[in-house]
Amino acid sequence: MIIIDGSEGEGGGQVLRTSASLSLITGEPFQITNIRGKREKTGMMRQHVTALEAVCAISESVCEGLAVGASEITFRPGKTKAGNYKFAVGTAGSTNLVLQTVLPPLLYADTASHITLEGGTHNMLAPPFDFIERSFLPIINRMGPKVSARLVRHGFYPRGGGKIEIDIDPAPLKRMDCIDRGELRSVIGTAMFTGLPQEVAEREVKAARKVLQWDEDVIGVRQLPEDQGPGNILLLEAEYEHVTEVVGGFGKLGLKAERLAKTAANRMKGYMESDAFAGPYLADQLLLPFALAGGGSFTTVKPSQHARTGADIIERFTGRKFEFDQQENGVFMVSSG
Ligand code: AMP
Repeated sequence: MIIIDGSEGEGGGQVLRTSASLSLITGEPFQITNIRGKREKTGMMRQHVTALEAVCAISESVCEGLAVGASEITFRPGKTKAGNYKFAVGTAGSTNLVLQTVLPPLLYADTASHITLEGGTHNMLAPPFDFIERSFLPIINRMGPKVSARLVRHGFYPRGGGKIEIDIDPAPLKRMDCIDRGELRSVIGTAMFTGLPQEVAEREVKAARKVLQWDEDVIGVRQLPEDQGPGNILLLEAEYEHVTEVVGGFGKLGLKAERLAKTAANRMKGYMESDAFAGPYLADQLLLPFALAGGGSFTTVKPSQHARTGADIIERFTGRKFEFDQQENGVFMVSSG
């Protein structure tokens, strides 16, 4: 049994999700204490419970202690079964993080799966759906499997009510080296909003354009149906030959539109000015599939604490180690095997 202190390293939900995915794939049981020990509100939140319930549902695993607020669980993995599954986060918790937990084991199932997830689709501190669809999944698909995702309804905090559907055609992951992102093909920006004045989204566009100097015709506003809100997110996207970066700036009460847009635009500018293949979030999310593929390499901007902690957990379950080496051009080479 692998024993994990959930307050070590980054100390968030990712430790729990990565452990559950890897436990199913490796067959190693685990116990985790101090769950989300470094978060302001420690313990499991609804979305973490849903992620673990989803893992149990696809595999008949047994998870002792699973409850909202719990700080310790013991997990004994069963065998992953492909199927048609539906999971509701129940709050506006992130559907995309639940997806990231069940996806790796389902990539190793015998046959195809279809998953429906309900909850938040554009949450702070989680990948927006657009990131999953256009940044993360295309890499998974290049590694062998065929995974497609469809957004049925947007779901924002606090209302939730979003829905995504995913089709998974499994195949063993092939190792890849993702060093060069290739030529820039296009950029696009959208300030999505509903249930708040259009002028807020227009101010976001204006502030983002000031930083990025993008032409007026590639960045604009989009109003979503009233019943999908209130909500607001600025999505900035840069499509390169081999990878697409999607940066999300999440609107919330009390955060000025200009500030949100400037932060998101500066993040995109930083990525575009670097030579890195993966942005900071894609980097931590690629570690698990790369480990399952038996190694590989990719370049990224400065590795986050999420990435370093993710690498530690992966090593505990698989024995596979990742190296993070800074190159002359400033980017980091992340490699294993
Ligand atoms: P945790 O904070 O431990 O629950 O983990 C959050 C996960 O969400 C990490 O895997 C991050 O890479 C991912 N994430 C957070 N914010 C974003 C974002 N804006 N875009 C893409 N992924 C994100």
